[in-house]
Amino acid sequence: MAISKEKPFVGFHTRLADHQAVGKFIDLIENDLAPLEFNAVIVELNPGYTYRCFPEYSTGTVTYEDLQRIAAVCREHGIKPIPLVQCLSHQSDFGGGPWPLLRDHPEFSETKRLPDDAEWPDIYVYSWCASNDKIYDYVFPMMDEIIEAFDADVVHVGMDEVFDIGEETCERCAGKDKAALFARTVKILHDHLAEKGIEMMMWGDRLLDAKKLGYNMWEADRFGTYPAFDRTDEVTRDIIITDWHYERTAFDFPSIEQFMKGGFTVLPSLGCDVAQCKDFWKYCLEYIYLGKKNHWPGRVGGILFTQWTPLTCEIIERIQAGMRGTAGEYTGPFDPAKVGETIVEIEPRAKYLRK
Ligand SMILES: [Zn+2]
Repeated sequence: MAISKEKPFVGFHTRLADHQAVGKFIDLIENDLAPLEFNAVIVELNPGYTYRCFPEYSTGTVTYEDLQRIAAVCREHGIKPIPLVQCLSHQSDFGGGPWPLLRDHPEFSETKRLPDDAEWPDIYVYSWCASNDKIYDYVFPMMDEIIEAFDADVVHVGMDEVFDIGEETCERCAGKDKAALFARTVKILHDHLAEKGIEMMMWGDRLLDAKKLGYNMWEADRFGTYPAFDRTDEVTRDIIITDWHYERTAFDFPSIEQFMKGGFTVLPSLGCDVAQCKDFWKYCLEYIYLGKKNHWPGRVGGILFTQWTPLTCEIIERIQAGMRGTAGEYTGPFDPAKVGETIVEIEPRAKYLRK
């Protein structure tokens, strides 16, 4: 197993697209994350990485050598470097049209392209068509190049917030079952990675029934993919689930129980609202106890901190200030220091997993 069963996973997820930020990111890894006993860093890249195989599908400046450097520093500190390659959904930023691959190949898009100034609720993000397997002629070489640069033995394939799948307006997908399409995509990605002996991680939200569990349509599914949870031949239980929840809820976080009972290793994935994270983690502690007591087949395998603002030197300095207690006032719309403050508040609670 690439991810240890003995040692709890303590991970930091971030987006990275800026070559100029790599030195500072390494400083964050060495001087802030490693001393707190983090043992995994998930780096979300596409299309911020400059692909050698398809340079025309990049929009960022992160290089192959940058990834090698990040991976080497991680390994020096006992941290597993894990690339995240967004698959199926999130093939665009929020506004501004699809990323270059779907822009140049509209046949890969599940929905027709809208004007680039289209906004919510006319569009959320673009997804690729789950019935056009020609996309893997592009996605797999891109994924493989990143795997090689990181020398990765674990890959996160994203797959969160799939809103457009099996649409009636897609000539390939019309009439098909959305859960079957989702599960099929999981299996295609899993088979590709398994052939290389690589372990797969994915976000868990599309496997959850939003109405039944009381989550919103971002944190769980309202479109018809959730029955894929029970397609165990395709959504295999060796996949590590990162189960993100950022909203406060009046009840608890029943998805953790569902994934444990379903036989998965699940990583509760936290945002940057300290009070909400404390509440989420409190319920995780309950589920860890219940899972042991009731012999649930799955387990809570660790904890993941998520950071969604693409890294710049300034963003990293704010995260560090939050971790070091020196943040002070901030006037911007979102303060990345909150990510750092959440980490130092919650991370010591992972001690319950270390026992
Ligand atoms: Zn389609």
